[in-house]
Amino acid sequence: MVYKVNVNTGKRCAMIDITAEVQKIVTESGVEDGICMVYIPHTTAAVTINENADPDVVRDMLYELDKIVPYSDGYKHFEGNSAAHIKSSMFGFSENVIIDSGRLLLGRWQGIYLCEFDGARSRTVYLKIIDSGR
Ligand code: ZN
Repeated sequence: MVYKVNVNTGKRCAMIDITAEVQKIVTESGVEDGICMVYIPHTTAAVTINENADPDVVRDMLYELDKIVPYSDGYKHFEGNSAAHIKSSMFGFSENVIIDSGRLLLGRWQGIYLCEFDGARSRTVYLKIIDSGR
């Protein structure tokens, strides 16, 4: 079984905290101990884990990322969204989080983010919850 989280990303580039939605599905699954794989089936979006306490961290990450991978830079890809493809592969398409006593085992300041690099769009995040049984 694969669970889905649907997210409307709202902007061209954004990092959207989906931790609460993921935890809700983990809770509803009833799995106490295991792994939650968070996977995004898109080529211009990504999944990452980073600080969710200070919103300026997300702002700074997106700001610096735009300098490393500019929106326009003589790319040849006909869709004109090469920067989004490059950023997505830099961040990656999945994260695995340990489930401990029914809770995502994240650090105090960590959250799970859907990273949008070619929005605004409607995105889907897949969750695979694996019960380790102990
Ligand atoms: Zn493209």
